[in-house]
Amino acid sequence: MKTYAIALIPGDGIGKEVVPAGRQVLEALARSRSDLHFEFEHFDWGADYYRRHAVMMPHDGLDRLRAKDAILFGSAGDPGLPDHITLWGLRLRICQGFDQYANVRPTRILPGIDAPLKRCSPEDLDWVIVRENSEGEYSGVGGRVHQGHPIEAAVDVSMMTRVGVQRILRFAFGLAQSRPRKQLTVVTKSNAQRHAMVMWDEIAHEVAEEFPDVRWDKELVDAMTARMVNKPDTLDTIVATNLHADILSDLAAALAGSLGIAPTANLDPQRRYPSMFEPIHGSAFDIMGKGLANPIGTFWSVVMMLEHLGENEAAQQVMRAIEAVTSDPSLHTGDLGGHATTAQVTDAVCRFILEPGRR
Ligand code: ATP
Repeated sequence: MKTYAIALIPGDGIGKEVVPAGRQVLEALARSRSDLHFEFEHFDWGADYYRRHAVMMPHDGLDRLRAKDAILFGSAGDPGLPDHITLWGLRLRICQGFDQYANVRPTRILPGIDAPLKRCSPEDLDWVIVRENSEGEYSGVGGRVHQGHPIEAAVDVSMMTRVGVQRILRFAFGLAQSRPRKQLTVVTKSNAQRHAMVMWDEIAHEVAEEFPDVRWDKELVDAMTARMVNKPDTLDTIVATNLHADILSDLAAALAGSLGIAPTANLDPQRRYPSMFEPIHGSAFDIMGKGLANPIGTFWSVVMMLEHLGENEAAQQVMRAIEAVTSDPSLHTGDLGGHATTAQVTDAVCRFILEPGRR
């Protein structure tokens, strides 16, 4: 029997609904098997915590997470607080504090989902986007002076380092190599950004030599948006900078049917620290507290967590349950055009995990 220590950080908005649903799925999984056990610890960090303590998480927060095997995260964001406070104070503090430099975002059209791309079949869209997660446009380097005066100035520096670029490209080439098509698209903007992005391109050529069996090409980020819509089948693994990949993966999620389905993993590939798994969507305050949030993005994130922990069979068990549930339109939430609630979808996934033959 293996026991895993899992930190639960629901955060804000619908994070408070989908993370408990993720826990229910892990508990159902543990009940269905004799080889797995989870110990959960709940952390109430986020915007409400900020209103009480003036910080999104306590100063020793990273130390309290350090010994965990993985973190299941909901979302950070609150209409009453500036986004840069909620983002930098919690999610980015954990990602950067634990050097989770590889952000991995798989996209597929799951069975039963009516995706907006009508000219392609569901099999044409099977991507993994790798997002650089530690530097670039999100490096936090910059400043703002003379606030409110006509001479006010503000600068955000997109900082890229050779080490940072090399390690994310190596990770992406390695991931591409592990997939059947062995194909990588490197997203760039080196026509306009003529310093850091040119270095990015050069390092891509160098790293590619270490992976002779991976076919790869380069695409400008603007052209990439059109290619994702018009020729989805020409893409497999994709790597892009922090900001480019953030935008492309929202597009990818929408093309696959809904933001509510898409998962993501913030990985420390060297496994020095716990990695963090979360749905791609944000706090969605418009539907918060109504039981309408689609929990599938969180469940798929749980699958990625299990894969990272080496529990591949358990991961497949949860993925099969997710696909069985998405196949049934009566179990679709509002974002997919249905009327099911978070609780109904969660119960159905748990039931399928416990009794795969019966629904
Ligand atoms: P944030 O500022 O925290 O990023 P947001 O509300 O601006 O959050 P998202 O939460 O990413 O943005 O989502 C945009 C919209 O998509 C939401 O307002 C909501 O209507 C819908 N949505 C997102 N996630 C889900 C979900 N899991 N289930 C149902 N609808 C969702």
